Amino acid sequence: MNLCSPKTVRELMDKYGLAPKKGYGQNFLINSAIPERIAGSAAAGGDVGFDGFGGFMEGVCALEIGPGIGSMTVELSSYFEKVIAVEIDKGLIPLLEETLAECDNVTVVNEDFMNVQADALLSELAGDMPVCVCANLPYYVTTPVLMKLLEEYPLSGPSRFRSITVMVQTEVADRICASAGSGDYGSLSVSVALHGTAEKLFTVSAGNFLPAPKVSSSVVQITLHENGIYDVWDKAPKDKAACDKFAARVKKLIALAFLQRRKTLVNALSSEIPKEKTEAALSELGIRSDIRGEKLSARDYCALAAILYK
Ligand code: SAM
Repeated sequence: MNLCSPKTVRELMDKYGLAPKKGYGQNFLINSAIPERIAGSAAAGGDVGFDGFGGFMEGVCALEIGPGIGSMTVELSSYFEKVIAVEIDKGLIPLLEETLAECDNVTVVNEDFMNVQADALLSELAGDMPVCVCANLPYYVTTPVLMKLLEEYPLSGPSRFRSITVMVQTEVADRICASAGSGDYGSLSVSVALHGTAEKLFTVSAGNFLPAPKVSSSVVQITLHENGIYDVWDKAPKDKAACDKFAARVKKLIALAFLQRRKTLVNALSSEIPKEKTEAALSELGIRSDIRGEKLSARDYCALAAILYK
């Protein structure tokens, strides 16, 4: 069964008395080359183009959020030893039982991913396997899902997630991958950079979905830092508890800096940190005191936190 044929999508939805639910961001892929390329890129750790990826990820689990009718799930099941697919829509569960009948390494979980205890679920179903996340994310919940994934594991150590390969709105992809000082740079960019390295792999036009969304989409891959925050700032405290406290402070600085991004950093932080203290810290780092938070990288925020909370 070609799960990406528009005719098959419509027939399956009719058979189970379903229609795409806008509220759940249901836009199904109707070009089989796309889920093949996304799943192959998730497995290979980089864009594999339309040639696919020949390898098999023995001992590695894929976590998919929102399998829909299962078009990408089928691809993932051929690359990964185990696939866990979390789908919010109860109506799609019997349909997925039919479309994934031959994929005996797939477990479908009917839950809102935002309510899932991800590590507990993964441990229960995949033991201690490392995990690659792969999803065509529903756009209404992209940022919360990404932040939940990034924050599932503390920055004092490695994440269980090796990589997060997701299709998102192109505008969001640009923000995820933006570098400090660029127009798209914001709290999402710096938060992602704290946890990993993001790369935009390719763009997918609206005509590849049923129904077609109003916006274009892009696939991004975040490769999680192997050593948590130490890959950004190797002087972070060595003690685990102290390191997590330090990471929380870095995140707090970032949140304050971007809450009022038009203000200078000194003013934006002033509700928590006296202006003279921030000015002195910036001067110690050789940074102008009238700089705005949007010019600083994740590493700069770590360096600043190290001085401010000495
Ligand atoms: N993977 C399919 C594809 O590429 O054709 C479907 C992708 S569709 C953009 C998003 C999917 O996520 C839908 O199946 C939707 O029901 C599901 N979904 C939406 N919100 C969710 C949530 N909070 N938790 C789990 N699944 C969710």
